[in-house]
Amino acid sequence: MQPRRILLVEDERPIAENIIFALEQERFAVHWVSTGGEAIQLLESALPDFLILDINLPDMTGFDVCRALRKKAETPVLFLSARQEEIDRIVALEIGGDDYLMKPFSLRELSARVKAILRRSDARTTESPAPVTPLVIDDKRSRAEYFGEKLELSKYEYFILCTLAKRPGWVFSRDQLIDHAMGQMSAPFDRTIDAHIKSIRAKLRKIKPEIEAIETHRGFGYSLREYW
Ligand code: CA
Repeated sequence: MQPRRILLVEDERPIAENIIFALEQERFAVHWVSTGGEAIQLLESALPDFLILDINLPDMTGFDVCRALRKKAETPVLFLSARQEEIDRIVALEIGGDDYLMKPFSLRELSARVKAILRRSDARTTESPAPVTPLVIDDKRSRAEYFGEKLELSKYEYFILCTLAKRPGWVFSRDQLIDHAMGQMSAPFDRTIDAHIKSIRAKLRKIKPEIEAIETHRGFGYSLREYW
């Protein structure tokens, strides 16, 4: 099994070194950075399996890093703080942290918390059932069914719908829809996304007039309905 990758954001070298030593003994792969800026930059390109975030960083707070992370991922976060205020704990959990550890802490305690949080988040991931959707994409045969009925789609429409169906509830911009769909097509792509969406909607409505399957997010783009 691949070791779990932990991103450690901590500006105090001795503390960081102790943490790295303890976690590597537990067979985690730890990557250490000492500023929030470096952390955010790294998160742009790759997501670790876990984040340990010191709250008091030289360039920003650990909360800021967590907020930036939460815009794109649910990766578990453990905050570290030297502060004593109870408010930190509440803020930490409110902005999406999974747990909180006050300095000084024992390394054994830290490892135990990391493992407990990972177990919880693994359980969440495996237990949550796949969302039930009446839209079924048959990749092999390049066709889609909606409430059991075959949809007659153009190639463009099919690929746009496929893109939306990859992440129900996720808002795709017009450019993202074009890029994703174009990746599938050899022919030049008609960039009038709105017209394609309009046509897809009409076909979906013909089958179920009372349901709006594709939602418009004004100024952003479109998403496929997440809950039916
Ligand atoms: Ca610090």
